[in-house]
Amino acid sequence: MTSLLIDHIGSLVTNDPGLGEGPLGVIEDAAVVVQDGVVVWAGPRGGTPEGAARDRFDAGGRAVIPGFVDSHAHLVFAGDRAREFEARMSGRPYTAGGIRTTVAATRAATDEGLRRNVRRLVAEALRSGTTTVECKSGYGLTIQDEERGLRLAAEHTPEVTYLGAHVVPPEYAGNPDAYVDLVRGPMLDACAPHARWIDVFCERGAFDGDQTRAILEAGARRGLVPRVHAGQLGPGPGVAVAVELGAASADHVTHLTDADVDALASGSTVATLLPGAEFSTRSPYPDARRLLDAGVTVALAADCNPGSSYTTNIPFCVALAVRDMNMTPAEAVWAATKGGARALRRTDVGHLAPGARADLVLLDAPSYIHLAYRPGVPLVARVWKDGSPQP
Ligand SMILES: [Zn+2]
Repeated sequence: MTSLLIDHIGSLVTNDPGLGEGPLGVIEDAAVVVQDGVVVWAGPRGGTPEGAARDRFDAGGRAVIPGFVDSHAHLVFAGDRAREFEARMSGRPYTAGGIRTTVAATRAATDEGLRRNVRRLVAEALRSGTTTVECKSGYGLTIQDEERGLRLAAEHTPEVTYLGAHVVPPEYAGNPDAYVDLVRGPMLDACAPHARWIDVFCERGAFDGDQTRAILEAGARRGLVPRVHAGQLGPGPGVAVAVELGAASADHVTHLTDADVDALASGSTVATLLPGAEFSTRSPYPDARRLLDAGVTVALAADCNPGSSYTTNIPFCVALAVRDMNMTPAEAVWAATKGGARALRRTDVGHLAPGARADLVLLDAPSYIHLAYRPGVPLVARVWKDGSPQP
C-alpha cells in the first residue's frame, strides 16, 4: 500500500461544499491523505488522522486544487496550421473548411507519427495541470483512418470520442448525405468498439440538425453517448438536438437563442465553453454569465486542435473566462474541474473529497484566484495523478 500526506496546504479547493467554504469547498490551512491513488481524507491540518501516511509532502502554504478535467480536445492529428492562423490574424475570417488541411496531413501520417503527437500533447496538458483529457477522432474521415484515430486516443485516455462527423471530406463534397450514411453505418460499426462518446460538428458548412440527429441516434443505438459541437460560428439547431437526445454536453455554445438557454437549463446537458477558440479566431466570447444565471451547468475546456485553438493550457482558459466571459475566478476553476467531470459524467475526478482519484495540482501561489490574477504565468508547481507525482 502506498500512502501520502500532503501537508501544510495554504488553501485547498475540494469542490465539495460539505468540506469547506462556498461552492469550491475551500479549506484554509489544510491537509490531504492519499492511499493507493485515492483521496481518503481531506480537512483542516489540525484534524489530520495520526499516522495517516508513510510519506509526507510539505506544500509550504501554497494552494492545491483538483486536477483539471479537459472534456474537449482533438489531439490525433498531423501537421499544424500556423500559416492559416497568421492569415486569419491578418484579417481573413475562419471557416470550418480549414479542417480538411489537417485531414490530408493526418491520413498521410504514420501510426508512430500520430502517436508521438498525441503523447506530446497529453504530456504538455499534464504539465499545466490537466489530469483527465477527452480525445476525439475526426481528422481521418475514412473508416480505416477514424478507427485508427480512436485506437491511438485510447492509448492515452478512456474518454474517447468518435467524431467521424467533423466535416464532409472532399471526396464526398458532391454528396454529403452519402457521407452521413457512411458515418452512421459502416464507419460507426468499425469505430463503436473503440469509443465511449459520439460527437457531431453541427454547424453551417459541416452538418445540419437532421444529419446530426441521425448520426447521434445511430451512435446511441451502439451504446455511444452523444456530445455535440453546437453554435460555434452562428446560431443553429445543435443545442436543441443535444438536449433532445440527452447529450452529455453541448460544446462552444457561443451563439445561443433564449430557447437554447432554457433548454440547457431544463435538461442535464452541460454547456462546455471553449474560449481558446474565440481567442484564436478573434471572435466574440460566449456569454457565460447568461448561462450561469439561468442555472446551466458550465464546463470549461481547451478545445486543443491545430486549427482554431492550438492550446492545451487550462489556466489560460480560466484567465480568459474570468477576464472576457464575466465568470468569477471560483466559477471558472469549478468549470475547469468539476464542470469538466460533469461533462464527462465522471464522479471520481474533478473534486478532492474522500473516494476521489488523487489527481491534484500544487500551485506556486497561495490561492486558486492567482490562476486568473496572474495570466500566462506557469503556476503549476507539481501534479499528482492517481497519487503519483508526475515528471
Ligand atoms: Zn472541437
